[in-house]
Amino acid sequence: MKWKGRRGSENVDDRRSQGGKSFSSGSIKGFSLKGGIGLLVVAGVIWLMGGNPLQVLEMIGGVGQSNTSNYSQTYTPTAEEDEMAEFVSVVLADTEEVWEAAFKQMGRTYRKPTLVLFTGYTTSACGSAQSSTGPFYCSLDEKVYIDLSFFQQMENQLRAGGDFAYAYVIAHEVGHHVQKLLGTLDQAHQQMANTSQKNANKISVALELQADFYAGYWAHHTERMFGSLEADDIEEALNAANAIGDDRLQEQAQGHSVPDSFTHGTSKQRHDWFYKGYRTGDLSQGNSFAGY
Ligand SMILES: [Zn+2]
Repeated sequence: MKWKGRRGSENVDDRRSQGGKSFSSGSIKGFSLKGGIGLLVVAGVIWLMGGNPLQVLEMIGGVGQSNTSNYSQTYTPTAEEDEMAEFVSVVLADTEEVWEAAFKQMGRTYRKPTLVLFTGYTTSACGSAQSSTGPFYCSLDEKVYIDLSFFQQMENQLRAGGDFAYAYVIAHEVGHHVQKLLGTLDQAHQQMANTSQKNANKISVALELQADFYAGYWAHHTERMFGSLEADDIEEALNAANAIGDDRLQEQAQGHSVPDSFTHGTSKQRHDWFYKGYRTGDLSQGNSFAGY
């Protein structure tokens, strides 16, 4: 992706230097499918506060590795990390442009989300987050939370590296923000709270696939607006979508997959919905809820 020298977003809240100690998560075996104990911590906190734990399910898909490394208060980013932060800021700016135009066409106004960069541990309106939580969107404060180390995990553990793979992750989370603004997210959460676990999982999958579709839609329009895509970019994104399918992650974690427990969709579904958004660039094609 061509991004160097391009405009960055003003809506990045860089908390990396605040560090924050990542508290020890203990054993996370068995929890890996939803992004590690971090999610459970977040969900638990929300539940304790009388909120809806489902609100934190909008994650990209869990890598679910234990990350208990300690970060000191004197965190100094490497040149590489700073470059990555700059990249994230440009991608966020690109999502602002694309979604502002899309909302305008709908006769609406796009409210830009904030993207919080953190290292190790931070807090959100949805509860506390740590690296092992994985990137997520909190609908209560309308912020996307990302620890840049997730991108390294994508490359090292999932073999899903590449700048456009990371851009896909950001665009997916922004996709949940779009769902929030359009009312889809709250509606889905209400339905999820009033149905069986099995059906709630299906609704969750539909939400995730639509966020993948929105990421593809963004890729389509960012290319049109900025001509920013390079030869292998779409391949990188499709490869990442494939790598974080529930079936793939479950098979890696436990040797088999349990379809009823899927919350994000299979590799093929994630791949296909991203590609559909990219191919059509047409929001009316993005109803992943049909049939649920
Ligand atoms: Zn998601």
